[in-house]
Amino acid sequence: MTQLSTESVYKKYAILSMDVEDWYHLDYFINKNFDRSYSLLDGLDRYVELLHDFQIPSSFFILSDLAKTLQQKMLELSSFGFDLACHGDDHTRPLLIPSKEFYIRTVAAKNKLEDLIGIPVTGYRASSFSLDRERLDIIRKANFLYDSSKNAFSDHPLYGDIDISGFDTVVPNIYRLGNFFEFEVSTVKIANTNIPISGGGYLRIFPWWLTSNLINRYIKSASFYVLFIHPFELSQRAVPYLDNTVSFSTRMRFGLGRSTTQIKLRKVISLLKREGFYFTTFSDLREKLK
Ligand SMILES: [Zn+2]
Repeated sequence: MTQLSTESVYKKYAILSMDVEDWYHLDYFINKNFDRSYSLLDGLDRYVELLHDFQIPSSFFILSDLAKTLQQKMLELSSFGFDLACHGDDHTRPLLIPSKEFYIRTVAAKNKLEDLIGIPVTGYRASSFSLDRERLDIIRKANFLYDSSKNAFSDHPLYGDIDISGFDTVVPNIYRLGNFFEFEVSTVKIANTNIPISGGGYLRIFPWWLTSNLINRYIKSASFYVLFIHPFELSQRAVPYLDNTVSFSTRMRFGLGRSTTQIKLRKVISLLKREGFYFTTFSDLREKLK
């Protein structure tokens, strides 16, 4: 194990990340025939405003299917020094894709993003954290330099389980194999259960007292925190029309807590700042650690 940083006064790092996808890419909507002209991608703009307010950077995992539409926005994000990475092509879960096809599709997604923004895309996060060791090795083979698909919250039915044997632990939740890094998203262990504290639906649904309690518990001993969020969670537009094929529980899971997410996200950032965390991106932290 090494110190996270020798040249900086900061010993604790926080990384905010956004998985750039629209509402209809979510696993419970992806195979439904919804009107895709209605978008909640305005949440991306709300997020960038918030980053500017706090003067902090972020990593963005972008679906290559949205890359053409978002080209100008991506160039703008890149000009701010933000980290642009790959979230696959159309949000199909990698564990549903045969390995050979996964390699071809992932390389094509990476190339498409690189063609449109003109810089190397070196980071990857699987949709729904759906990745195993075989596919992680494919990510390495496809010339990515880091991945952030490892999530210890194994109770989620869609998440994969990545075996990282052979990787060295740099600090807890950051692993390295050669020049390739794996950044695990944050969970806190309570009574043998890993509770998610990395944002997404949990930030929306958990009340603030619970989220702040869990994060405080985690950062007592952790020097690395990762949060992920999606544009639809910060969008100010109304929930799209969902027909009666969508169950009540899915509607709840999708819509719940959206109005308070931005406030909670601001509170998380303020809390981490107060606790002395330095905000960076996956690419920048990898550069520092390599
Ligand atoms: Zn996603």
